[in-house]
Amino acid sequence: MFEKILIANRGEIACRIIETARRRGIKTVAVFSEADANSRHVRMADEAYEIGPAEASESYLRGDKIISIALKSGAEAIHPGYGFLSENADFARECEKAELRFIGPSAESILLMGLKDQAKIEMINAGVPVVPGYDGEDQSEELLKSEAEKIGFPLLIKAVAGGGGKGMRLVENLDEFLSQLSSAKSEAMSSFGNDRVLLEKYIRKARHIEVQVFADMVGNAVYLHERDCSLQRRHQKVVEEAPAPDLSEDMRFEIGETAIRAAKAIKYRGAGTIEFIVDVEHGLKDAPFYFMEMNTRLQVEHPVTELITGLDLVEWQLRVAAGERLPLTQNDIPLKGHAFEVRLYAEDPSKGFLPQTGKLHHFSYPAVNGSFRVDTGIEEGDEVSIYYDPMIAKLIVWGESRSEAIRHMRRVLKNTAIAGVKTNLEFLYNIFNRKAFNVADFDTGFIDKYIVHLTPGDEHVSPSTLVLAALAELAPHAKGADVWDWSDGWQLNSHLKTNITYLENDSSYDILVTYLRDGYEMEVAGKRYQVKLLDRDGDDYLISLNGEKISGKVITEDRDFTVFSDGSVSYLHHYVPGVDGRDDEKADGTIVTPMPGKVAKMIAENGAEVQEGDPILILEAMKMEHTIKAPKTGILEFNSLQENMQVADGHVLLRIAESG
Ligand code: ADP
Ligand code: ADP
Ligand code: MG
Repeated sequence: MFEKILIANRGEIACRIIETARRRGIKTVAVFSEADANSRHVRMADEAYEIGPAEASESYLRGDKIISIALKSGAEAIHPGYGFLSENADFARECEKAELRFIGPSAESILLMGLKDQAKIEMINAGVPVVPGYDGEDQSEELLKSEAEKIGFPLLIKAVAGGGGKGMRLVENLDEFLSQLSSAKSEAMSSFGNDRVLLEKYIRKARHIEVQVFADMVGNAVYLHERDCSLQRRHQKVVEEAPAPDLSEDMRFEIGETAIRAAKAIKYRGAGTIEFIVDVEHGLKDAPFYFMEMNTRLQVEHPVTELITGLDLVEWQLRVAAGERLPLTQNDIPLKGHAFEVRLYAEDPSKGFLPQTGKLHHFSYPAVNGSFRVDTGIEEGDEVSIYYDPMIAKLIVWGESRSEAIRHMRRVLKNTAIAGVKTNLEFLYNIFNRKAFNVADFDTGFIDKYIVHLTPGDEHVSPSTLVLAALAELAPHAKGADVWDWSDGWQLNSHLKTNITYLENDSSYDILVTYLRDGYEMEVAGKRYQVKLLDRDGDDYLISLNGEKISGKVITEDRDFTVFSDGSVSYLHHYVPGVDGRDDEKADGTIVTPMPGKVAKMIAENGAEVQEGDPILILEAMKMEHTIKAPKTGILEFNSLQENMQVADGHVLLRIAESG
């Protein structure tokens, strides 16, 4: 086994790898960018070296620097994690040239699977079913269009170099083919530097089921069962589980054996995942499945496999890379219980899942135990920056059965609290609360289908949430006589009263508080509530609302209150007239950059007349594209905006003047 390894990654996956290395007595070397100098993976490693500025292209993607640090520090092997250099064949080759073991497959395997068209051809030759479509060399518009007609609609255009759901376009009919083709190509070019595409039949009702495979250097290969990653948004995984619900033993065997055939065909070694798309138009039983792509690395969602097998996949990677044989044969791979993972992101579901940045001034979750695991690279006080993926943590649960695991996940999500940045916590909780999800009635369209139920609408803040926030502000005053000094209050009929306005997004909520001898009366939207504080432990409150007991957590930062109660999360701001400028973007028609980013595309022209809701430009930030829409109808006025321009946070992008 290795004595020392270098981890060419950051965040949760770097921490995850360091944990296993430590347990095996292997010394660890971390690398970090300027932005990550104080991050968790740097604190955890035995040694750490800075490799450059925050931009990944100048740090985590600098294979040359990373290799020289590995040599200097005496590391024998490099673990690339996922993302960054993990599927870079040149890097794998450079490592081996420098006599460093790349903890992953050979450069040849990475290359074979790196491009989706080539991988499909490879698979067809190995007798693995692939989605019918066009994977040819000829990329002329006429030919692609005629191939599209042959395949029929709906169809999918995919960037052959794509990943993370990018460079993919659904085409519903021939009329929109060319415009979708050009938009797929331009996204592919800017994201992957390669605008080649393939065409594929689009499977309307599909499940994403992938198989974890492992192979050693002497030709043994096993599968560690499957994962179901059908819960996706924009073709990106949100919730993953293992095993796939309702998959028959026969089909598990068949899909597993097919994955092994795929891996052996390319002489694979190490950990890999074969992604299949299953056509469930007529149910899952005996459903046809097709190879989609192979990820030649450890996946983000590998922990669910670890929880149902009890195996440590990183340890297996290290053992295989060190030349050991696979520790188990196929029949000895356990499969016990059920596991889920959710990807907790800094993003705002109420604003189209816009990525969020900022400092996590609060981050807490339940105690880790046999049925709950957290993989994270972030601790309270750390920053989510614009430079990398906005994933905060992966929350992973295990239960004897799927329904037990769901109950664990609900409890975990209810008891996780993050303040400082908005997150998808409530969105995730809502998924686990949907009946259809609970009975495993889902496909890859699930999130889109239920989106209005999963994301908060306007005016959704409940009276109990408002009351919790109000108590968090008022309760400290309530204990002593200084309640009478409360400056915002006034007296009416000998009762002290105060009025509070909370804002969330574009909605405002008024709450009229009357102090009573043993509590409060609070009036919200014309309804009166008798409120008592029953207990308080730090940020945790237990209150009585008209006699009903309600508990919640309130994290306070100046006049911002993040309220967690029964799976809901609200971000309230106590509005003080004159001190706060209200969010009047819509009123004056200016649009301010929601986050730092690059102007990827201008859609409307300066001086054009736009209707409210019309797309104006596409901003690329945190590796995602965001369409900026007109907040009202009028005439567009750009100042000096142009494509490819970098814009700072809070920069006035444009203004919409009154027309006519
Ligand atoms: P995995 O296949 O491991 O489950 P995904 O397919 O979701 O991961 O993502 C593929 C790659 O894209 C991963 O290496 C991951 O680092 C990266 N990725 C995932 N989500 C995002 C995102 N929101 N923005 C940018 N990159 C991402
Ligand atoms: P990426 O490299 O971005 O992960 P994939 O080829 O793995 O691209 O596809 C990502 C997701 O897009 C899949 O998990 C699936 O939900 C959807 N998808 C891909 N191909 C098809 C298809 N032919 N029909 C329907 N959905 C598809
Ligand atoms: Mg994929």
